[in-house]
Amino acid sequence: MANLHPHNHDHCIRTAIQRAQTVCEQQGVRLTPVRRRVLELVWQNHKPTGAYELLPQLAADGFNSAPPTVYRALDFLLEIGLIHRISSLNAFIGCDHPGGQHPTGFFICTDCGNAAELPAARLQAFSAELEQVMGVQVASSSYELTGLCGVCRLKP
Ligand SMILES: [Zn+2]
Ligand SMILES: [Zn+2]
Ligand SMILES: [Zn+2]
Repeated sequence: MANLHPHNHDHCIRTAIQRAQTVCEQQGVRLTPVRRRVLELVWQNHKPTGAYELLPQLAADGFNSAPPTVYRALDFLLEIGLIHRISSLNAFIGCDHPGGQHPTGFFICTDCGNAAELPAARLQAFSAELEQVMGVQVASSSYELTGLCGVCRLKP
């Protein structure tokens, strides 16, 4: 979860766009200018972004910023796994390892508001363990953990 430590965020944005282009090529879909811009805006920081925060920014960039346009772009990005929705906040966050379905979970800092995706492999292993212990079959999971991130917990 490197993104909850100080880092070069331009690198995060560049990597996210590159990965998005690869995922779209693999799936034979188009990262249209408005989809790409919405993805960049979701990635502008590590704070979950609400759909309504995107409207004025898209309008300022000269895009059609009617809510349906924004929701369609968000739906597209969700569907191909480039972003995730954090239910409790009704907000979106960029996936840091897109390109396949994976269980999702998030850590959200209650001080700075930054969020990070929990490691999917660990979540998968946890579900597998619960299946054993409880004799159940897990179909879906979502986790939201809150607390202080690595930066905020060291603040004086
Ligand atoms: Zn970053
Ligand atoms: Zn993800
Ligand atoms: Zn924090």
